[in-house]
Amino acid sequence: MSRVLVVEDESAIAELISINLRHAGYDVTIACDADQAQIEVDGVLPDLVVLDWMLPGQSGLVLAKRWRGQTRTRELPIIMLTARAEEGDMISGLDAGADDYLTKPFSTNELLARIRAVLRRKAPEALDTVVDVAGLKLDPATRRVARDDREVRIGPTEFRLLHFFMTHTERVHSRAQLLDRVWGDHVFIEERTVDVHVKRLREALDPVGCSRMIETVRGAGYRFTQQV
Ligand code: CA
Repeated sequence: MSRVLVVEDESAIAELISINLRHAGYDVTIACDADQAQIEVDGVLPDLVVLDWMLPGQSGLVLAKRWRGQTRTRELPIIMLTARAEEGDMISGLDAGADDYLTKPFSTNELLARIRAVLRRKAPEALDTVVDVAGLKLDPATRRVARDDREVRIGPTEFRLLHFFMTHTERVHSRAQLLDRVWGDHVFIEERTVDVHVKRLREALDPVGCSRMIETVRGAGYRFTQQV
Protein backbone atom coordinates (compact mmCIF):
# COMPACT_ATOMS: atom_id res chain seq x y z
CA MET A 1 0.00 0.00 0.00
CA SER A 2 1.48 3.36 -1.03
CA ARG A 3 1.80 6.01 1.66
CA VAL A 4 0.67 9.50 0.65
CA LEU A 5 1.30 12.57 2.78
CA VAL A 6 -1.27 15.34 2.16
CA VAL A 7 0.02 18.77 3.23
CA GLU A 8 -2.93 21.16 3.23
CA ASP A 9 -4.09 23.70 5.81
CA GLU A 10 -7.69 23.88 4.60
CA SER A 11 -9.16 20.97 6.54
CA ALA A 12 -12.17 20.52 4.24
CA ILE A 13 -9.90 20.04 1.23
CA ALA A 14 -7.48 17.84 3.17
CA GLU A 15 -10.36 15.63 4.31
CA LEU A 16 -11.86 15.40 0.84
CA ILE A 17 -8.53 14.39 -0.67
CA SER A 18 -7.74 11.88 2.06
CA ILE A 19 -11.19 10.24 1.93
CA ASN A 20 -10.85 9.73 -1.81
CA LEU A 21 -7.27 8.50 -1.58
CA ARG A 22 -8.12 6.03 1.19
CA HIS A 23 -11.03 4.82 -0.88
CA ALA A 24 -8.57 4.24 -3.74
CA GLY A 25 -6.40 2.14 -1.44
CA TYR A 26 -3.74 4.59 -0.28
CA ASP A 27 -2.45 4.96 3.25
CA VAL A 28 -2.97 8.68 3.94
CA THR A 29 -1.48 11.04 6.51
CA ILE A 30 -2.46 14.70 6.76
CA ALA A 31 -0.19 17.57 7.81
CA CYS A 32 -1.59 21.09 8.14
CA ASP A 33 1.65 23.06 7.76
CA ALA A 34 5.28 22.77 6.71
CA ASP A 35 6.58 22.01 10.22
CA GLN A 36 4.16 19.14 10.70
CA ALA A 37 4.95 17.88 7.19
CA GLN A 38 8.67 17.88 8.01
CA ILE A 39 8.02 15.89 11.20
CA GLU A 40 6.04 13.30 9.21
CA VAL A 41 8.74 13.04 6.54
CA ASP A 42 11.47 12.77 9.19
CA GLY A 43 9.50 9.90 10.75
CA VAL A 44 8.55 7.74 7.77
CA LEU A 45 9.34 8.77 4.23
CA PRO A 46 6.07 8.68 2.25
CA ASP A 47 5.85 7.33 -1.30
CA LEU A 48 4.37 10.60 -2.52
CA VAL A 49 3.45 14.04 -1.18
CA VAL A 50 0.45 16.09 -2.24
CA LEU A 51 1.69 19.54 -1.29
CA ASP A 52 -0.36 22.72 -1.13
CA TRP A 53 1.51 25.83 -2.18
CA MET A 54 -0.23 28.28 0.15
CA LEU A 55 0.40 27.21 3.74
CA PRO A 56 0.54 29.29 6.92
CA GLY A 57 4.17 30.01 7.75
CA GLN A 58 6.57 28.36 5.35
CA SER A 59 5.09 27.88 1.86
CA GLY A 60 4.83 24.58 0.03
CA LEU A 61 7.19 25.97 -2.59
CA VAL A 62 9.96 26.58 -0.04
CA LEU A 63 9.35 23.15 1.47
CA ALA A 64 9.61 21.44 -1.93
CA LYS A 65 12.89 23.24 -2.63
CA ARG A 66 14.29 22.19 0.75
CA TRP A 67 13.33 18.54 0.18
CA ARG A 68 14.95 18.56 -3.25
CA GLY A 69 18.14 19.84 -1.68
CA GLN A 70 18.45 17.00 0.83
CA THR A 71 19.73 13.52 0.00
CA ARG A 72 17.00 11.63 1.85
CA THR A 73 14.14 13.50 0.19
CA ARG A 74 15.69 14.30 -3.19
CA GLU A 75 13.64 11.68 -5.03
CA LEU A 76 10.45 12.17 -3.03
CA PRO A 77 7.61 12.52 -5.56
CA ILE A 78 5.70 15.77 -5.08
CA ILE A 79 2.42 16.87 -6.63
CA MET A 80 1.87 20.54 -5.94
CA LEU A 81 -1.55 22.10 -5.46
CA THR A 82 -2.31 25.74 -5.94
CA ALA A 83 -5.22 28.09 -6.22
CA ARG A 84 -3.18 30.33 -8.49
CA ALA A 85 -3.46 29.62 -12.18
CA GLU A 86 -0.77 31.99 -13.42
CA GLU A 87 1.71 30.44 -15.82
CA GLY A 88 4.67 31.89 -13.93
CA ASP A 89 3.52 30.08 -10.81
CA MET A 90 3.32 26.79 -12.65
CA ILE A 91 6.90 27.22 -13.85
CA SER A 92 8.07 28.17 -10.33
CA GLY A 93 6.37 25.07 -8.97
CA LEU A 94 8.04 22.78 -11.48
CA ASP A 95 11.39 24.51 -11.03
CA ALA A 96 11.13 24.04 -7.26
CA GLY A 97 11.12 20.33 -7.97
CA ALA A 98 7.44 19.40 -8.06
CA ASP A 99 6.83 16.35 -10.24
CA ASP A 100 3.44 17.62 -11.24
CA TYR A 101 1.14 20.52 -10.63
CA LEU A 102 -2.62 20.82 -10.16
CA THR A 103 -4.64 24.02 -10.02
CA LYS A 104 -7.63 24.19 -7.68
CA PRO A 105 -10.38 23.34 -8.17
CA PHE A 106 -9.42 19.94 -9.60
CA SER A 107 -11.33 16.69 -9.86
CA THR A 108 -10.44 13.82 -7.58
CA ASN A 109 -10.12 11.58 -10.63
CA GLU A 110 -7.54 13.92 -12.07
CA LEU A 111 -5.55 13.91 -8.85
CA LEU A 112 -5.71 10.10 -8.69
CA ALA A 113 -4.55 9.83 -12.32
CA ARG A 114 -1.60 12.10 -11.61
CA ILE A 115 -0.69 10.18 -8.45
CA ARG A 116 -0.76 6.88 -10.33
CA ALA A 117 1.39 8.33 -13.11
CA VAL A 118 3.97 9.72 -10.69
CA LEU A 119 4.13 6.47 -8.68
CA ARG A 120 4.44 4.42 -11.88
CA ARG A 121 7.29 6.61 -12.95
CA LYS A 122 9.01 6.08 -9.61
CA ALA A 123 8.91 2.31 -10.06
CA PRO A 124 12.20 1.06 -11.44
CA GLU A 125 11.99 0.78 -15.18
CA ALA A 126 13.71 -1.91 -17.14
CA LEU A 127 15.42 0.21 -19.77
CA ASP A 128 15.03 -2.44 -22.46
CA THR A 129 11.36 -3.15 -21.84
CA VAL A 130 8.90 -2.50 -24.65
CA VAL A 131 6.71 0.47 -23.75
CA ASP A 132 3.10 0.53 -24.87
CA VAL A 133 0.95 3.62 -24.46
CA ALA A 134 -2.52 3.38 -25.98
CA GLY A 135 -1.31 1.04 -28.72
CA LEU A 136 1.79 3.03 -29.59
CA LYS A 137 4.70 0.66 -29.02
CA LEU A 138 8.34 1.59 -28.53
CA ASP A 139 11.03 -1.09 -28.34
CA PRO A 140 14.32 0.23 -26.91
CA ALA A 141 16.17 -2.97 -27.86
CA THR A 142 15.40 -2.75 -31.58
CA ARG A 143 14.83 1.04 -31.53
CA ARG A 144 11.55 0.55 -33.36
CA VAL A 145 8.33 2.48 -32.89
CA ALA A 146 5.05 1.22 -34.30
CA ARG A 147 1.33 1.36 -33.95
CA ASP A 148 -0.86 -1.45 -35.27
CA ASP A 149 2.21 -2.81 -37.09
CA ARG A 150 2.66 0.47 -38.90
CA GLU A 151 6.20 1.60 -38.31
CA VAL A 152 7.04 5.15 -37.25
CA ARG A 153 10.30 6.49 -38.65
CA ILE A 154 12.06 8.86 -36.27
CA GLY A 155 15.56 10.13 -35.67
CA PRO A 156 17.65 9.26 -32.60
CA THR A 157 16.82 12.42 -30.64
CA GLU A 158 13.10 12.05 -31.32
CA PHE A 159 13.40 8.42 -30.26
CA ARG A 160 14.94 9.35 -26.90
CA LEU A 161 12.38 12.12 -26.45
CA LEU A 162 9.50 9.75 -27.22
CA HIS A 163 10.93 7.11 -24.88
CA PHE A 164 11.09 9.66 -22.08
CA PHE A 165 7.56 10.90 -22.81
CA MET A 166 6.13 7.37 -22.93
CA THR A 167 7.71 6.40 -19.62
CA HIS A 168 6.64 9.68 -17.96
CA THR A 169 3.07 10.19 -19.15
CA GLU A 170 0.35 12.51 -17.91
CA ARG A 171 2.65 15.07 -16.36
CA VAL A 172 3.97 18.42 -17.51
CA HIS A 173 7.66 18.66 -18.41
CA SER A 174 9.24 22.07 -18.78
CA ARG A 175 11.68 22.58 -21.64
CA ALA A 176 14.53 22.82 -19.12
CA GLN A 177 13.53 19.46 -17.58
CA LEU A 178 13.35 17.82 -21.02
CA LEU A 179 16.81 19.16 -21.90
CA ASP A 180 18.11 17.82 -18.63
CA ARG A 181 16.49 14.37 -18.89
CA VAL A 182 16.68 13.73 -22.65
CA TRP A 183 19.73 15.66 -23.78
CA GLY A 184 21.69 15.39 -20.57
CA ASP A 185 24.04 18.02 -19.30
CA HIS A 186 24.28 20.17 -22.42
CA VAL A 187 23.88 23.64 -21.02
CA PHE A 188 24.70 25.26 -24.36
CA ILE A 189 21.58 23.89 -26.04
CA GLU A 190 18.79 26.43 -26.25
CA GLU A 191 15.34 25.58 -24.96
CA ARG A 192 13.95 26.27 -28.44
CA THR A 193 15.74 23.12 -29.54
CA VAL A 194 13.14 21.16 -27.58
CA ASP A 195 10.35 22.76 -29.61
CA VAL A 196 12.07 21.79 -32.85
CA HIS A 197 12.33 18.13 -31.85
CA VAL A 198 8.80 18.03 -30.46
CA LYS A 199 7.57 19.37 -33.79
CA ARG A 200 9.50 16.66 -35.68
CA LEU A 201 8.21 14.01 -33.31
CA ARG A 202 4.61 15.15 -33.84
CA GLU A 203 5.11 15.04 -37.60
CA ALA A 204 6.49 11.51 -37.35
CA LEU A 205 3.59 10.36 -35.18
CA ASP A 206 0.94 11.99 -37.34
CA PRO A 207 0.63 9.16 -39.93
CA VAL A 208 -0.26 6.69 -37.14
CA GLY A 209 -2.69 9.11 -35.52
CA CYS A 210 -0.64 9.76 -32.38
CA SER A 211 0.58 13.33 -32.84
CA ARG A 212 -2.04 14.70 -30.45
CA MET A 213 -0.67 12.60 -27.61
CA ILE A 214 1.95 15.35 -27.20
CA GLU A 215 0.13 18.29 -25.67
CA THR A 216 1.54 21.79 -25.42
CA VAL A 217 0.88 23.18 -21.95
CA ARG A 218 0.95 26.92 -22.50
CA GLY A 219 3.70 28.67 -20.59
CA ALA A 220 4.85 25.45 -18.94
CA GLY A 221 6.03 22.86 -21.44
CA TYR A 222 4.75 19.57 -22.80
CA ARG A 223 2.70 16.62 -21.62
CA PHE A 224 2.40 13.17 -23.16
CA THR A 225 -1.09 11.83 -22.66
CA GLN A 226 -3.08 8.77 -23.64
CA GLN A 227 -6.33 10.60 -22.97
CA VAL A 228 -6.93 11.88 -26.51
CA1 CA B 1 -3.76 26.33 1.56
